[in-house]
Amino acid sequence: MIKKISSKEAMALEDKYGAHNYHPLPVVLERGQGAKVWDAEGKEYFDFLSAYSAVNQGHCHPRIVNALKNQAEKLTLTSRAFFNNVLGQYEKYITEYFGYDKVLPMNSGAEADETALKLIRKWGYKVKGIENNKAKIVVCADNFHGRTITIISMSTDPQSFEGFGPYTPGFITIPYNDIAALEEALKDPDVAGFLVEPIQGEAGVYVPEDGYLKKAYDLCKANNVLFVADEVQTGIARTGKLLACDHEGVRPDILILGKALSGGVIPVSAVLADDEIMLTIKPGEHGSTFGGFPLAGAVAMEALQVVKDENLAERAQHLGEIFRSEILKIDHPMIEKVRGKGLLNAVVIKPKDGKVAWDVCVKMAENGLLAKPTHDHIIRFAPPLVISEEELLEAIERIKKSILSF
Ligand code: PLP
Repeated sequence: MIKKISSKEAMALEDKYGAHNYHPLPVVLERGQGAKVWDAEGKEYFDFLSAYSAVNQGHCHPRIVNALKNQAEKLTLTSRAFFNNVLGQYEKYITEYFGYDKVLPMNSGAEADETALKLIRKWGYKVKGIENNKAKIVVCADNFHGRTITIISMSTDPQSFEGFGPYTPGFITIPYNDIAALEEALKDPDVAGFLVEPIQGEAGVYVPEDGYLKKAYDLCKANNVLFVADEVQTGIARTGKLLACDHEGVRPDILILGKALSGGVIPVSAVLADDEIMLTIKPGEHGSTFGGFPLAGAVAMEALQVVKDENLAERAQHLGEIFRSEILKIDHPMIEKVRGKGLLNAVVIKPKDGKVAWDVCVKMAENGLLAKPTHDHIIRFAPPLVISEEELLEAIERIKKSILSF
């Protein structure tokens, strides 16, 4: 079915037959291994986007691909109308891995966020005792939780929400990294949950002040409000700990995971919580045809085991420090700021002679390194965590060469 085609042909096909809901760099990828990808003409690149942090374990990790192949030959999908022999084993594995009573398996990050929103509301009515249909959820400005109608109803980014109304009510938006604003919002007795990204990824890798998450968690506890962490992008070793919340010793009441849960092999997401919260949802009240399918369980178990066996959190911590200190050494007016944790980093680009972050990314692609601007002036740098120190230094040379060319 899949023919060998040139980059030009591939781009023309996507343009003609695909919806124009993305604006990709003009690079057509055909193959990937570890931290590298190759285009249709065989040119090699370092992948510094990692499919928005889904490929933490590296492209086509042989153990994860093998788990996929083995399970695909036996049983892929059963639906949840029946039990399957993999799901329970996966549920035991992932709940023990992250330390929760139960997991609710879904597919995409957005679906996992939607699931968490439903859990917060259900818990608000059944456990906290909020009057029906009155529950509110506090969210942060500049958040990114996905693309569904309810999720964009929480968004403050016009590109995400404009033209898609009417919106889902029930949200209170406060500034990110603002404890006083949270304290004020939590005075409302109808608030059931606070949903937060431990680092705002899509917004441009905004790292809150040290202690923000812990203070926010404590405030939630004091007000009988659920602290809910969207770790779809920050989780699974990306920031130098298994979870970004681990940097502050915070255990979210509800934990949302996606992306790297499958090492970028198939869409797998999950919501973890203890019984008091999870058992508020009864049979028939939530689900998905593919949620918890055997292929996902087999792949996710292997992907999570790889994270442990290859010490990916420690690697991210160590390599992230090298990345930030080496980039800071580049003496060029376009580099305004470098920030991040572990291997989730961003460089804020100051325009020069009309050249902006997009131009830097195009130049880096020419020099064999792929990254994408988030908003107009920020470039996120997030390579697979399996990148070696030697590869990282070579990649930094390519970044340096690209920036110095302006
Ligand atoms: N939550 C966060 C923090 C994300 O960064 C993303 C995607 O970038 C999502 C949710 C949505 O995940 P998905 O694209 O798998 O729906």
